Amino acid sequence: MQIVQHSQQTLKTALISKNPKLVSQYEKLDAREQRLMNEAFQPASELFGPITLHSQSDWITSHPEAPQDFEAFFSNPYRKTPSPEKHSIYIQSIGALGNTRVISEEYIKWLKGYCEAFFYGLKVKLLEPVSVSATRCSFRVNDHTHNLQIHAGQILNFLKKKKPNDAFCVVGITMIDLYPRDSWNFVFGQASLTDGVGIFSFARYGRDFYTSHYEGKVKKLQKKSSNDYSIFDNYCVPEVTSVLLLRSCKTLTHEIGHIFGLRHCQWLTCLMQGSNHLEEADRRPLNLCPICLRKLQCAIGFSIVERYKALVRWIDDESSDTPRATPKHSREDNVNLPKPVEAFKEWKEWIIKCLAVLQK
Ligand SMILES: [Zn+2]
Ligand SMILES: [Zn+2]
Repeated sequence: MQIVQHSQQTLKTALISKNPKLVSQYEKLDAREQRLMNEAFQPASELFGPITLHSQSDWITSHPEAPQDFEAFFSNPYRKTPSPEKHSIYIQSIGALGNTRVISEEYIKWLKGYCEAFFYGLKVKLLEPVSVSATRCSFRVNDHTHNLQIHAGQILNFLKKKKPNDAFCVVGITMIDLYPRDSWNFVFGQASLTDGVGIFSFARYGRDFYTSHYEGKVKKLQKKSSNDYSIFDNYCVPEVTSVLLLRSCKTLTHEIGHIFGLRHCQWLTCLMQGSNHLEEADRRPLNLCPICLRKLQCAIGFSIVERYKALVRWIDDESSDTPRATPKHSREDNVNLPKPVEAFKEWKEWIIKCLAVLQK
């Protein structure tokens, strides 16, 4: 295992920058917020640690790219920022997310609530779910996995056309695997930052995707015509497990982070770290490092304390083992998603430590 160790000075510059305008912008932040973010370059910080590399196939080793410090983020002329008129994140589900309508609904509501706390200050809204056929996208059977795949770029065009006036971005989520072009095997997701749209598939986050007994295998594509979407009727949906839920909320917040202009993080352990494979994606924490947190705060303008409090409230209400005070459903409608309680419990403990620094 290798550690990506930056000097205190490097981290300090990545966070605060040497540009006098950005230094003074930083100094105008709430003193408590500065104290928390300065933990980025405290050598023995309990809150933020270095990135560890576990193999040659990890992201940083296999995708050398220039790291993005706060200044590079801030001065990117192509970066899009929410405005009072465009202040909503829309989530569009494509095809079923769970095996029943109620599971699909609970699942997407859970993601919505999480995103609303994570991107605190923005509204998160759900678009009416659509079937694959409604998108009119191309599809195929993957030669290696024999699972169905839909064309990511065409889904992006579909989302772009549907983008409501108050949307900062629209993100599509689906349980069907994606391909970006004929010659590619697959892609986890694709986004257009200029159009503010993204599509992400959680198909490969399910338990059985890579196994030979995966139920999404299509023996042969009995394709009558490329307009016949009946093959998607009752197509396999992975079982909603706590692992799938955890992976999907990490992925969704990571990918929406890209739409805000945050590039892969190479500074400290962080949700925005790139990942090349599932094991590396699972290693990513739920939280942002201070450098990425400053970027997101600069884009949205939230109070860090209020954002952390909103996350704690959401964890208490939606992802802890203590039942919520007011049940939201009648008894027969009530489904209990297998929430990743342990992961969120740990994260809550971490947030509480941050709040202690912020409220000293
Ligand atoms: Zn990424
Ligand atoms: Zn980061």
